[in-house]
Amino acid sequence: MSDKREKSGRSSSAVRPRDLKLLTDTVERERSTLMALFHVIQAVNSSLDLEEVLSLVIDYIIQLTQAERGFLMLLNQVGELEFKVARNVDQETIEGASFDISRTIVQGVVRQGRSVVTTNAQEDPRFSARESVVSFQLRSILCVPLRVKDQVTGVIYVDNRYKSGIFGDRHRDLLTAFANQAAVAIENARLFTETQRRAKQLAAALARQEELDRLKSEFIRNTSHELRTPLAIIQGYAELLEHGELGELSPEQRQPVSAITARARELNKLLDDFATILEVGEQDWPSEPVDLAVVVRVVAADYQADAQKAGLTLSTEIPPDLPLVQGNPSHLQRMVDNLLSNALKFTPSGGCVWLRLGVQGINVCLEVSDTGIGISPDQFERIFERFYQVDGSPTRRYGGTGLGLALVKEVVEAHGGWVTVESELGEGSLFRVLLPCVP
Ligand code: ADP
Repeated sequence: MSDKREKSGRSSSAVRPRDLKLLTDTVERERSTLMALFHVIQAVNSSLDLEEVLSLVIDYIIQLTQAERGFLMLLNQVGELEFKVARNVDQETIEGASFDISRTIVQGVVRQGRSVVTTNAQEDPRFSARESVVSFQLRSILCVPLRVKDQVTGVIYVDNRYKSGIFGDRHRDLLTAFANQAAVAIENARLFTETQRRAKQLAAALARQEELDRLKSEFIRNTSHELRTPLAIIQGYAELLEHGELGELSPEQRQPVSAITARARELNKLLDDFATILEVGEQDWPSEPVDLAVVVRVVAADYQADAQKAGLTLSTEIPPDLPLVQGNPSHLQRMVDNLLSNALKFTPSGGCVWLRLGVQGINVCLEVSDTGIGISPDQFERIFERFYQVDGSPTRRYGGTGLGLALVKEVVEAHGGWVTVESELGEGSLFRVLLPCVP
């Protein structure tokens, strides 16, 4: 029985050698197509050069489909299709005049996101006599969408103007599978190119910004240098006059002369600020153990008369035996001076300003607080930027250059410390500086 079945089975399913050869050839063809597809996908995925990826993709497709021409179009930012590569069977780039493709098919594929294959476009009932398919004498056309995350990003279009029936469903399916891989590689290359372009733009902007900063610093340095000598002469003579060393002043002369000395002193401080901010940036300044108590006392004494004139109470709280900090006394003095002059400037008459020193862990802590106009929290970061003023308009109420707090931050950080601010609009502000003690 089994013997019989074996015999009959053999006779009914016997494959003729010719069919076997055909089958083997088909399998071999499929195998080499898939191998080629695998290799090109590998090549495409290993490059981030957009031009190279696009050329690889289109040349492989022409080879795969035996098409006469191939085009790859990508949707731009405004949703229009742009030709990216146009190649012929000899891997030559096609020039603009030969871009006579079926727009109807391309637009349809973009809209519907589905591949289209037509074996003889001239007789295809889907295209009317008005279509470019007919007027351009196009015959075989295969068009597949490029898709990234369900979004059509472009199309691949291949055609043959002379032969009909050269593309079949097998080509369409192969090309669709390949297009899905290629679309991701193209998108990656596109993003990489875009990122590189942006990085170059940013580097150029940064270089421009650095150059501007350098020019600004140079301008400040040169201007300060030019102003220093005449200002010293003005201040010197004004002080001689004020102290009666060039003859007794009349009561009417006294007030204007002391106004000149006061303003000259202010201008000198401004030049000191410029010099300090330039010097701390260079990190090549002399340093020694500094007693902040002395610095605070000197600065407070300097402003006591001004505070009284402005109707403000200026108090200091300085504990005995404060540890020293390592630093530059004149830089630290400019730092305290700026915090205090701000507190006095932004506090209306009748208010109070405090200078407090203390120890916090391994740091000396300086607090400068006031009952002034306060600062909105969204300005906390910006007020420490060079030249920034909350109100920088020409009609602003308070004078200044916008360099004070930048100087404070830069001096404090150059000394290994940090500065923070707490404030509420209309309630007042507190600036806290922490500087490491000398061990
Ligand atoms: P300015 O020369 O304008 O004082 P600063 O850099 O010293 O420049 O300060 C920047 C801005 O921070 C000021 O314009 C002001 O708006 C705000 N500010 C600084 N200190 C105080 C304060 N104690 N109270 C209120 N606002 C302040």
